Amino acid sequence: MYTETEGIILRQTKTLNGRRMITLFSKKYGKIGAGTSLSERGKNRSSLAIRPFCRGRYELFKNRDTYNINGAETVESYYSIGEDVDKYMEAARILELTDAMLGEDQPQPALYDLLCQYLSMMADRRTGFSTLGTAYELKALKILGSGVNVRRCARCGGEKTDKGCVLSVTEGGLVCGGCAKEQDGSDPLIFTAGDDILSVIGYINDHPLKSLEKLVLQPSVEGRLRTFLGAYISYHLGIDRLKSDSLLPQ
Ligand SMILES: [Zn+2]
Repeated sequence: MYTETEGIILRQTKTLNGRRMITLFSKKYGKIGAGTSLSERGKNRSSLAIRPFCRGRYELFKNRDTYNINGAETVESYYSIGEDVDKYMEAARILELTDAMLGEDQPQPALYDLLCQYLSMMADRRTGFSTLGTAYELKALKILGSGVNVRRCARCGGEKTDKGCVLSVTEGGLVCGGCAKEQDGSDPLIFTAGDDILSVIGYINDHPLKSLEKLVLQPSVEGRLRTFLGAYISYHLGIDRLKSDSLLPQ
């Protein structure tokens, strides 16, 4: 069966005889694995479209469960991501995370659109690269049905008005000070939550990614938020450390 779809290359590996295996986040079919004999060398439209950091249109041939990419053309190139090493590492981390978030052959159009927006904003961004990644993670969690709730206490439903609020990984977000007092305090999946972190999460949750162009978090707030998100993503999505995490400055 011949078909075509727009998509983003998540990963590619070389195999025998000059062929490549491509992991494509396609708009129509979700994440699929596809082989191709197209070469990424040269400057023609198909060679650009099978490199990472590109949104392309792909002609596919499906034979039972396997896809082959017969043709490709670039729709939007985010090549400038590769011109800055910090930007590149952060965007590579987001591609790896997205790859791990997706099951095969399950369309995720909202997450696809979010990733397109993220890459496009990242290509233009000059600073605060990791802030955009943090915002992407929060939004992706929401799309996948595991969003971090900071509006109301997960236990009593009260609004966050008191001191001593915490963020509970297992309960999906905010637990108010009153409720948090009642537990023994040794749960490693409970994180202290200052007003700063709660308002950052609330702000990101309530605004589209596009409007967060100028948001750059203070390193201390971002560091705590990322530690929490790491534990949260591991618990809710079963994704532990990524390969690219070890390459990022700690
Ligand atoms: Zn409560």
